[in-house]
Amino acid sequence: MRIVLLGPPGAGKGTQAELLAGRLGLIHISTGDILREHVEKGTELGLQAKKFMDSGKLVPDDLVVDIVAERLKEKGARGFVLDGFPRNLPQARALNKVLKELDLPLDIVLYLALETNEILRRLSARLFCPDCGANYNQISSPSEIPGRCDNCGQTLKKREDDQPETVHRRLKVYEAETAPLIDYYKTSSILKEVPASAELSEVLQEILRRLPHPARAREGDSRG
Ligand code: AMP
Repeated sequence: MRIVLLGPPGAGKGTQAELLAGRLGLIHISTGDILREHVEKGTELGLQAKKFMDSGKLVPDDLVVDIVAERLKEKGARGFVLDGFPRNLPQARALNKVLKELDLPLDIVLYLALETNEILRRLSARLFCPDCGANYNQISSPSEIPGRCDNCGQTLKKREDDQPETVHRRLKVYEAETAPLIDYYKTSSILKEVPASAELSEVLQEILRRLPHPARAREGDSRG
């Protein structure tokens, strides 16, 4: 199964991608996570990407497209969930080209739809662990001890790009650059919209209901 998750920041793409990848045995490719890892490690790519990320802008396409293409070539045949990529039309076209070369067409593009006021509410409550990268939300998925990571006890932090002024920029970037992908994928009839305001588990069920049949059958098997 080959899936793209689309949607505004805070719609739950990362969480749903992880759940789907786990259940269906797919690889999870999150460009945001990959870039943050590079920033943490201080690699050349991380240094280049950081200033764009901290200000809520998109990292230049050439930096991101190559990373994704490489992962798809290595492991794409297993099936994948793309989360945070593509983020604009040039990236969508580049993805198309790579997938054509690999003969791995997309099965479905899931658009997680969320109202702006709910996006703002969720992003203001988001925390992450700077040590192990675990994600939390003080409203929907809090840590057991407030402000501490459940896995490693580290003090949780707010992402630099979840600061209110940066969130504003990210939403503008989303509307201008990413939202047009909804129409782009609608024309190839693989786009399915999923209301993303419900609880995590409900949204996951809605997603599973929309997947093409073989994946749903596999999901049924794995639950025995
Ligand atoms: P995310 O975790 O997906 O919200 O991504 C965090 C930040 O990483 C974004 O605001 C961008 O600066 C950068 N980023 C992630 N994915 C992409 C992408 N596909 N293209 C360009 N920049 C990206």
